Amino acid sequence: MCGIVGIIGKENATDILVQGLEKLEYRGYDSAGIFVTGKNKEDHLVKSLGRIADLQSKISSEVQGTVGIGHTRWATHGKPSERNAHPHTSSNQQFILVHNGVIENFEEIKQEFLQNKQLEGETDTEIVVHLIECFAEAGMATKEAFKKALTVIKGSYAFALIDKNDPDTIYVAKNKSPLLIGLGDTFNVICSDAMAMLAETNHFVEIADGEMVIVKADKIEIEDEKGNLVYRESYEAQLDLSDIEKGTYPYYMLKEIDDQPTVMRRIIQEYTNTVGDAVIDDKIIGKITGSDRIYVVACGTSYNAGWVGKAILEKMTKIPVEVHLSSEFGYNMPLLSEKPFFIFLSQSGETADSRQVLVQTNELGLPSLTLTNVAGSTLSREADYTLLLHAGPEIAVASTKAYTAQIAVLAVLAKAVGDKKGNQSSLEFDIAHELSVIAAVMETIIDEKMVISQLVEDYLSTTRNAFYIGRGVDYYVSMEASLKLKEISYIQAEGFAAGELKHGTIALIEDGTPVFGIITDQKTAAHTRGNLKEVESRGAHNFVIALASLAKETDQLIIPDVHPLLTPLVSIIPTQLIAYFATLQRGYDVDKPRNLAKSVTVE
Ligand code: GLU
Repeated sequence: MCGIVGIIGKENATDILVQGLEKLEYRGYDSAGIFVTGKNKEDHLVKSLGRIADLQSKISSEVQGTVGIGHTRWATHGKPSERNAHPHTSSNQQFILVHNGVIENFEEIKQEFLQNKQLEGETDTEIVVHLIECFAEAGMATKEAFKKALTVIKGSYAFALIDKNDPDTIYVAKNKSPLLIGLGDTFNVICSDAMAMLAETNHFVEIADGEMVIVKADKIEIEDEKGNLVYRESYEAQLDLSDIEKGTYPYYMLKEIDDQPTVMRRIIQEYTNTVGDAVIDDKIIGKITGSDRIYVVACGTSYNAGWVGKAILEKMTKIPVEVHLSSEFGYNMPLLSEKPFFIFLSQSGETADSRQVLVQTNELGLPSLTLTNVAGSTLSREADYTLLLHAGPEIAVASTKAYTAQIAVLAVLAKAVGDKKGNQSSLEFDIAHELSVIAAVMETIIDEKMVISQLVEDYLSTTRNAFYIGRGVDYYVSMEASLKLKEISYIQAEGFAAGELKHGTIALIEDGTPVFGIITDQKTAAHTRGNLKEVESRGAHNFVIALASLAKETDQLIIPDVHPLLTPLVSIIPTQLIAYFATLQRGYDVDKPRNLAKSVTVE
């Protein structure tokens, strides 16, 4: 959440900051701001409520400099407003600060250090810039004041600080929130995500938690908590600018839905060999095979993917799997088995809720694997093992291709472990072939866009609520389908176990309530149809998504058959398109739904 950018040593700092913020807008879009300056140059602070486009319209041609920092906010403390927008300024106007994260002890700091300071807004960040000022007033040089402030602060942060009296330096520090330094030949940059600065460089240096970095135009200096200098090699970002452009698509979400067949094929390429066997690091397979229980820990869409993963993993590996919400697990840890193995699912690899669990499992010395889309991300670095999703950058806030990639990679993993254990169900499963069938079926469904758009108009144009129902994996898909619908179209949607509806929730069914039934499992098809009849008798407007071999002529959407273990990979596709069109038809911003941000880096 929140995007930070910074640049030092280039003439067109303003343009670079604004372009960088545009690339980071998926991380938060409550407000935005930039501060630009330079040696013998005027200072410029421009802030705006709303989107980067709103900020841009306030930036005049005079706003120029060679040094600057910028921020796009996802508010945690203090409502979205221009006053609460970053960068924040100290009372004497000397220090300018941007921040991503949450300062947990901001009230204590205020009480202890800032009794005499006049604060303008309500953010926890403003406290920090005043704390730095406080230490500077006590005689400390800027670097010392910044370092001293870091020892007082508790919480998560990525900071970029400029001292107006010495604009040759950007002071940077991080703890738990992501931040990278990008290296140029006569300039350097900072950013929350390499994506933001790809136009300037593709060489980046990671910063570890607790480190502080002095960034100048011609050098960077990393110091650890004890003040020792740290040397760290840079790495080359394996990203292409074209990967993060939406091209001719009106929205990233539509592009990312369309990307899914390609992602399936990439996963086949990355994780299977020429005879179709799963190829995954032996060490991972050894650890899982030796475990007595797998714990999948995740949030949001990844959590929903975890449930589908459970169904596949248990079938093929015969190892019990538990799926947990990260934000619950960390504070209410269940009794663990003797030999647990942890799988963390996080598209960004930065999800703070999941990370706090990983920190605990690491302390307990328990083995872990992260499935993520972002190489080098925090969860990837801190878990014992990583499997990349190879989905390519996912920019729309509503996750689509990362969900299907997570399920496909979990299926490959399940196959590798099942084969290792000699399980029949796994040995007879040709994963490469089945995933290539999936890719082709995904294409067929995606080709039905216009039919789906029309159906959405018929079913969802005026409704305030809707239900997705199913049993087994169809229930797990219903959970994700309803999350997709509610998060972008704001239709109150619930994913429900079909058989459970009559135990209470059926009371909500009224004349015209849309109920989407997902039917892909032969064992439960008749029962789900029975439940659909029950709601229809009470006025529901039923919409059936069914696998061809289980379909009836009257069903609204019929999906070609795929391997029974992998049906979620195709039954989810129409539901993604349903959410997309419902949002479009209501006139909302598909890629940037209200109150949300893509990469959730606060607990
Ligand atoms: N806690 C800070 C605020 O509410 C930073 C939030 C963010 O990471 O965007 O302004």
